[in-house]
Amino acid sequence: MTIPTVELPSGARMPTFGIGTWRMGEDRRRRKDETDAIRHGVDLGFTLIDTAEMYGDGGAEEAIADAIAGRRDGLFIVSKVYPHNASRRGAVAACERSLKRLRIERIDLYLLHWIGSVPFEETIAAFQKLKDDGKIGDWGVSNFDVDDLQSWDEKDGGRCAANQVMFNLARRGVEFDLLPWMRQRRMPLMAYSPFDQGPLARDRTLKAIADRHGATPAQIALAWLLQLPGVVAIPKSADKGRLSENFAALKVKLTDADLAELDRAFPPPRNKRSLPIV
Ligand code: NDP
Repeated sequence: MTIPTVELPSGARMPTFGIGTWRMGEDRRRRKDETDAIRHGVDLGFTLIDTAEMYGDGGAEEAIADAIAGRRDGLFIVSKVYPHNASRRGAVAACERSLKRLRIERIDLYLLHWIGSVPFEETIAAFQKLKDDGKIGDWGVSNFDVDDLQSWDEKDGGRCAANQVMFNLARRGVEFDLLPWMRQRRMPLMAYSPFDQGPLARDRTLKAIADRHGATPAQIALAWLLQLPGVVAIPKSADKGRLSENFAALKVKLTDADLAELDRAFPPPRNKRSLPIV
């Protein structure tokens, strides 16, 4: 199964399905299992890995380095800078630390993790320098709602490649304004917490639909995101079996009746909702 890709403003292509790594790298005793899980994910065919300097205080990036050693080609690596490191010099230094931990030459997509107090212009200047020096392929943001994204977009002249936000069946607020705005700009939305951090993988409506497909509720939650244009899903699992299960969501094709049932159980937004952040 090949993972579809979306085109970024730079012309690079980003896979629409990847591996999340939050909560990995926090405990040395779990490191080997986590590395094995990520390696298994790559063996399955996952080509995008999402991480951040924050995850395990760099430990998640180190686990990824072990998992992808000798097979970096064909992978799309996403990492994120802390807002308090996002100054002109701070972001360059933070990115260099991430590259060292990941043991790679270039991060494909580098995101500002959330909005802090550093002016956008400074962070953009740092991102531009990193791109000019070949240390990142593209840059983007995370946890930005429409107003902030518009303001960032004006300052970086349309070069923002993606915005990573919480989006899943139980939290559909972005469909009201953020997702349409991003689609118009042809900017992919990276949907984090696709299982709402767990509950959707146990949901009864999803289970009923899953039974009709010989699938699992987790796969239905992913299949719903994967059928939306311009959306990238990044489920996290540190378990090989669940990674296989999640990867196989690519095979699940939801019918119009399934989608209607999901809309009844998880109604799309009718008005503006504030962006959820975990
Ligand atoms: P998810 O919605 O991906 O849920 C993860 C949880 O679901 C884990 O407890 C995992 O357990 C469990 N799980 C995974 N697969 C299955 C399955 N098939 N069946 C049942 N349970 C399952 O939440 P996250 O918040 O981790 O979001 C995903 C990724 O998005 C993060 O890892 C991170 O990379 C990114 N993210 C980004 C944020 C940002 O601010 N930019 C914020 C939050 C997340 P187990 O590991 O034991 O399988």
